[in-house]
Amino acid sequence: MSTASSLRILVTNDDGVHAAGIFALQQALSRAGHQVTVCAPDRPRSASGHSITLHKPLRLAEVALPDGTIAYAGSGTPADCVTLGVLDVLENKVDLVVSGINHGPNLGWDVTYSGTVSAAMEAIIIGIPAIAVSVANYAQNLHFDGAANFTATLAGRFADPQHKLPPATLLNVNAPDLPESEIKGVRLTTQGDRQYVDRLEKRHDPLGRAYYWLGGKLHDKEAAPGTDVKAVGEGYISVTPIHLDLTAHAFLRDLRSWNVEEERG
Ligand code: MN
Repeated sequence: MSTASSLRILVTNDDGVHAAGIFALQQALSRAGHQVTVCAPDRPRSASGHSITLHKPLRLAEVALPDGTIAYAGSGTPADCVTLGVLDVLENKVDLVVSGINHGPNLGWDVTYSGTVSAAMEAIIIGIPAIAVSVANYAQNLHFDGAANFTATLAGRFADPQHKLPPATLLNVNAPDLPESEIKGVRLTTQGDRQYVDRLEKRHDPLGRAYYWLGGKLHDKEAAPGTDVKAVGEGYISVTPIHLDLTAHAFLRDLRSWNVEEERG
């Protein structure tokens, strides 16, 4: 780490290097005194999940952010950009990876589709602590200030050597799309469930052939207390620690009673 309070931070996202959210994040982290490098996809890659590029070469290009800062635009996925950013651009001298600010929520089960959260997962697989941050709305113009300034504060916590994320753990931050002065506070939360209805829309083209739109609307059921969905719905910033171990530890005990295990030979 460079100094007691200044961290070397790699910033990435899944909305592309020219998105407004990543610039808001880069600005807030830089204002807080951190050494910020941006390496992000050269085009929008939302809902790309944790895909990586194995069967063709990857390229990095230097591009300018709106304030003239040089950033790196990668031809691959968000996870690819973390790998290139950490291992090549910053030669593994990184204290923290921050992914976002995503234009749209990454609440509940959204995280399994999310390029934003997957970029943070790639960082922790490489061994760098990581934060994913999103503003939970799909509007054209989002309020990024609350998310950006809170993330700068949260990143600063990593400067304290007492504050270590356990292995394979990242922080998933979601902020409501509100002016910063209207955000009610910050809550630590669990990952909620977030179900969509009408996920598939089937239409027909002028020749009568079917085509499909994936998507759907949110189920309007009440969010469970303590969840990310609930906190953001009530106007709070949500911070959820997410673990890469997807084992259903509680169910493993029940599963033993199914008599699936055996020893052969
Ligand atoms: Mn996105």
